Amino acid sequence: MQEIGAAWTSVREAVPDHVTVVAVSKTKPVEAVVAAHAAGARAFGENRVQELVGKHEALTHPDAPHHADYADLQWHQIGTLQRNKVKYIAPFVSLIHAVDQVSLLDEIEKRAAAARRRIPVLLQVHIAEEQTKFGFGADDLPTVCDRLDAGDWAHVDVTGLMGMATFTPDTVQVGREFAGLRRQFESMGAGRNWTTLSMGMSGDWRIAVEEGSTMVRIGSAIFGSR
Ligand SMILES: *Cc1c(COP(=O)(O)O)cnc(C)c1O
Repeated sequence: MQEIGAAWTSVREAVPDHVTVVAVSKTKPVEAVVAAHAAGARAFGENRVQELVGKHEALTHPDAPHHADYADLQWHQIGTLQRNKVKYIAPFVSLIHAVDQVSLLDEIEKRAAAARRRIPVLLQVHIAEEQTKFGFGADDLPTVCDRLDAGDWAHVDVTGLMGMATFTPDTVQVGREFAGLRRQFESMGAGRNWTTLSMGMSGDWRIAVEEGSTMVRIGSAIFGSR
């Protein structure tokens, strides 16, 4: 667990200060989260709701024995989120990164209202060549934004965009995909107070930061391979 603290520190030092680092702790035990938190990590990313809820109950839930020590710890839901799981994370999640469908916005709205809060979310945009990756198409975004501006989904606080580049050694292609996402972030976000452009993982965060990322999601470079 000592290596985790050291790895967090070297990632945090390598990533520019203005870029938030989300420590992606999926598949790793609670002790790994504790080690990274002790070294200074504050935002943690999980892609499975059951695991996210389990770690919340162990550390940050009001019934957790040492929850006061983790009052500054934020949980981010980073992967594909099934509608029927939203209710489990609605009371406590700090940011949902991968909102890729209107029906998911509808469900988050319902569960956020029930939890009497506004939930920050990012709209996931499909930028990769691969069909297997999710997200709104560039053509869908204006319609979604118009509905947001009109006051639909009043308990959903869209704060920016998220995207995943094609998994390829072709750094030019990865850069081009990230740059395309940044342009959408700038054009759609103008006048909407958007703050967050979540792009970049262990393998491609440097390119993402060059292309304007404000939030990187780093797993294996901090916690080791999965
Ligand atoms: C797993 C995951 C990451 C982190 O991946 P690493 O390559 O381990 O840094 C980032 N984003 C999403 C959506 C993930 O599922």
